[in-house]
Amino acid sequence: MIYPDYSKNNLYNVACSIEDALVGGKACCSNITLSDKIFLVLVDGMGYNILKSAVEGIKFDKIYTVFPSTTATALTTLMTATKPGEHKILGYTTYVDKVGVINALKYTMPETSEVDLLKKALGKSMEEVFNVKSIGKKAREKGKKSVSILPKCIAGSEFTKMLYTNVEEYRTLWDGIYKAKIFGEKGVNFITLYIPDVDLTAHRYGPYAEPTLRAVKDIISMILRDIPKGYDIIITADHGFIQTENAIMLDEDKDFVSSLDSPPFGDARAIFMRSRKDLKCLEEKFSSFKVFTIDEVKELGLLAEKGEKIDIHADYLGIPTDRKVYVYRFKNGYAGHKGHHGAMLEEEMEIPLIRYS
Ligand SMILES: [Zn+2]
Repeated sequence: MIYPDYSKNNLYNVACSIEDALVGGKACCSNITLSDKIFLVLVDGMGYNILKSAVEGIKFDKIYTVFPSTTATALTTLMTATKPGEHKILGYTTYVDKVGVINALKYTMPETSEVDLLKKALGKSMEEVFNVKSIGKKAREKGKKSVSILPKCIAGSEFTKMLYTNVEEYRTLWDGIYKAKIFGEKGVNFITLYIPDVDLTAHRYGPYAEPTLRAVKDIISMILRDIPKGYDIIITADHGFIQTENAIMLDEDKDFVSSLDSPPFGDARAIFMRSRKDLKCLEEKFSSFKVFTIDEVKELGLLAEKGEKIDIHADYLGIPTDRKVYVYRFKNGYAGHKGHHGAMLEEEMEIPLIRYS
């Protein structure tokens, strides 16, 4: 297992460097210095090992993602330069005071598929509820121009509105890359491009399957063919992947469910639990399952820097140290993915950092 270190070589430090370059006054920038013209490409799910298996002849560094190693948490850190313990989006599902467990990417209740239901129900945007401000918005206040190039299917969501400014939707990757080039010619300070295809392919076929590696190879060569001139280029990812073994359905386990005070949240490989009982016994119940108290989470610095105060609605965190997934279904159906992520195995935590300037 690899514990995150928010003081260096972490996705958080990349975010801090971007904020420092565009807004100023941000510490924790690690050793990355950038100009105020940045092109950031996020290839969802492109773990370090996946990139290494897919391409040859490209130089890149190994850095680490945040914990939980999952999209909602990592993207929020990258686009707001805050640690998971600060923004409190702790997985695919997370906990909101007075509301309960929510689906973070869809800003809705986990029992439904209706996107952004909470906007209607609470009358508040996701940005207001989580009280975060994106780097793009902070940069705009300093007179810097940003554009966020995102696939059409997510371009209008509350999660997107919380993280991105001046959203420009694209329909195909060629369209997205072309738009980045055009905005580069206009001299926009901060251009972000989000690419979901590797994540979708790795969940479906597995991280090292032929379609996944081909997607990586094609995407990287397309980006490098057309990078905007005069920019600091950063190509990175939000998490890696492991090949999944088997899934344990937590919602079917009556003993487990009755030991909790409220439903768990987080991810299928990062389970945050609220209970007055001693849940360390779950280490005997499930094999290769590590249970941390929230004090241990704080001391180890899993969600913020070591010892930094965290205030979350959980007493315990459960992590598989093998390749199993622990699914808690709020509604029917689990697709039985071949690839997964969320915990702290090397393949989940290690992400690439490709830089050009
Ligand atoms: Zn992802």
